[in-house]
Amino acid sequence: MPMSIDFQSRLFPHLSKIVDHYGTPFHIYDVRGLLENGTDLTRKFMGQFQFKEFFAVKANPNPEVLKLMRGMGFGFDCSSIPELVLATLVGAKPGDVMFTSNNTSTAEFQAALDIGCIFNLDDITMIENVPEPFPRLICFRYNPGERRSGTSFIGVPVEAKYGVRHDQLINAYRMAMARGANRFGLHTMIASNTLDCSYMIETVRMLLEVVEEVSAELGIKFKFINMGGGIGIPYHPNDAPFDLFQLAHEARYLLHRFKERNGYVPALYMESGRAMTGPFGILVTRVLNRMSKHREYVGVDACMSSLMRPGMYRNSQIAEGAGYHHITVLNRYGHPKSGPTEVVDIVGSLCENCDKFAVRRELPMAEVDDLVVIHDTGAHGHAMGFIYNGRLRPAELMLCEDGSVRLIRRAETIEDYLRTVADLEPNVMQL
Ligand SMILES: *Cc1c(COP(=O)(O)O)cnc(C)c1O
Repeated sequence: MPMSIDFQSRLFPHLSKIVDHYGTPFHIYDVRGLLENGTDLTRKFMGQFQFKEFFAVKANPNPEVLKLMRGMGFGFDCSSIPELVLATLVGAKPGDVMFTSNNTSTAEFQAALDIGCIFNLDDITMIENVPEPFPRLICFRYNPGERRSGTSFIGVPVEAKYGVRHDQLINAYRMAMARGANRFGLHTMIASNTLDCSYMIETVRMLLEVVEEVSAELGIKFKFINMGGGIGIPYHPNDAPFDLFQLAHEARYLLHRFKERNGYVPALYMESGRAMTGPFGILVTRVLNRMSKHREYVGVDACMSSLMRPGMYRNSQIAEGAGYHHITVLNRYGHPKSGPTEVVDIVGSLCENCDKFAVRRELPMAEVDDLVVIHDTGAHGHAMGFIYNGRLRPAELMLCEDGSVRLIRRAETIEDYLRTVADLEPNVMQL
């Protein structure tokens, strides 16, 4: 969802001052937008059952963002030790952290156990790898295979590397019980960036059906179902937003029916990342060069190291495809440009031809020193950054509720770049 008029009106008048102070490029997140959106999620899902969002840390692992999420009562979804450390750093309590692993090591299980996470096991073979004391509460990630069609990003479930097959599931719970588990959850994540709310409703229905099936076989009750993340945001202004109200409404109905049949109701968990933070961040970058080659190029001072999605999800140099991020051109004083347009590619400096924020995009004429705002970078933006080609990751800022701007991560420096090779202890092995 391209940035709201409200965010624009609070930011753009001050943007040139912010750019002068912090330099470009940077991501900036809107605290007010983040809080309103998160509060709205909880309000929509309130009902006769328990609901909890576990924010997917990988979407935006900045501690200040995580603190906001925690402040709204959210837990965290983690899948690596550094993510577990981050969740702990911002004060997550045992039970607030879901550890959703994939191809997990014993060290990772140990770390998750030390913190008291909810274990979400991705494979039947993982059960025996979990160290003692085996958690009482165990969840499995379910992969429905040919029972469900796919979405464009994760692909069809039969091709996905995640989850336990349907025919393995009952055995998996049985094995977990044999190790001492006595409370259970069921998880799935089969969509990514979907705007189709009926797909998510079907996912809730599917989870509840599987719960009934397993319960009937093993005589167990389920503490929760977790529908995963994957709720999409409208990156393109013409995309229709995901209908969260409808999902909440239908989920309530399905849970109500479940209760009528089974006499109890599991909690509903969600681990949304993108939909929580995506629309509330932008990448601000400055035009370095105007170049005329076989196409017209606008070169900016950010590149794929700041935001990988356009380059990664664009399927050709012709069409924007699934990597579309909306772009606004402003003059150096922060006024959005209007007037004559042109068709350009917006490019970074990386030696990779996919390093383009836009291809063949019609935009107002951009000049050197203009500002280019790339929308919807609040999730899977900075977090996916990398330092290939010595292009270092940019700063992150926050527009706070009181109107101040705060640095919440500095830009990387050459010292950071050299850290893993500087001052090495001698470590040579004679063979
Ligand atoms: C990535 C991921 C999420 C978050 O996905 P979004 O598309 O950001 O909502 C949630 N759960 C798991 C297990 C994930 O891998």
